[in-house]
Amino acid sequence: MSRSVLVTGGNRGIGLSVVHAFAAAGDNVTATYRSGEPPAGAPDGVTWVRADVTNSADVDAAFAAAEQAAGPVEVAVANAGVTRDQLVMRMPDEDFSDVLDTNLTGAFRVARRATKGMLRLRRGRIVLVGSVVALTGSAGQVNYAASKAGLVGLARSLAREVGSRGITVNVVAPGFVETDMTAVLSEARKAEILGSVPLGRLATPEEVAGVVGFLAGPAGAYVTGAVLPVDGGLGMGH
Ligand code: NDP
Repeated sequence: MSRSVLVTGGNRGIGLSVVHAFAAAGDNVTATYRSGEPPAGAPDGVTWVRADVTNSADVDAAFAAAEQAAGPVEVAVANAGVTRDQLVMRMPDEDFSDVLDTNLTGAFRVARRATKGMLRLRRGRIVLVGSVVALTGSAGQVNYAASKAGLVGLARSLAREVGSRGITVNVVAPGFVETDMTAVLSEARKAEILGSVPLGRLATPEEVAGVVGFLAGPAGAYVTGAVLPVDGGLGMGH
């Protein structure tokens, strides 16, 4: 049966792959984009809404658009995220707070709004896109790693709040994925990263989307409060 699915940051990278995967499975997808236009080549039938996850009214409007197009949201994927890397001594306050506001508070805004409809439905799947660095740490990323670590506490607390209503809340923790976010890394840094990834390569966005789809699908029904690595073994031991 086709479900109402909402994905933030669906216009490129991992989010766009998630949009493709749900659309291919026959779900009704609403996807947000913050800047530019909806991507060329996106699947037909996707409802596109411009929304900035740092703005609660935008998040509310995106859910309202999804509800209007396809009914109550049954699957919410909080994917939108940014990096603003810098060594801690040189990191201005706003680089810390802006990354937290997008990655952590943004996911909170999405999860809070999603929960509202799912509690009435008495079912739902919330998937937060975290990162391997939440638990390993990453020099130059105290803001980003803190934001992604925060998602683990958020997901596990919410999973306890809403589990009795048939709602699952999980974190997918990718390692390094071939997207614009990693395209900016120097070749030296990429080589260094690949040296510590047992699978010896970056992930494709489709490989992350597959795990999101698993958590949102029938096979993931009894998984909640989990942090699922999709990192080629980089964070082994989490
Ligand atoms: P991209 O940089 O390719 O895409 C980021 C997406 O987030 C874009 O759609 C962007 O919109 C959107 N976005 C950023 N800020 C906001 C905001 N304030 N409101 C709404 N949308 C926003 O990143 P990836 O696809 O690589 O990353 C997706 C998620 O996966 C992120 O949460 C990231 O932290 C996480 N991740 C990525 C990894 C990687 O190696 N690539 C590894 C681990 C985790 P716009 O196009 O307008 O900028």
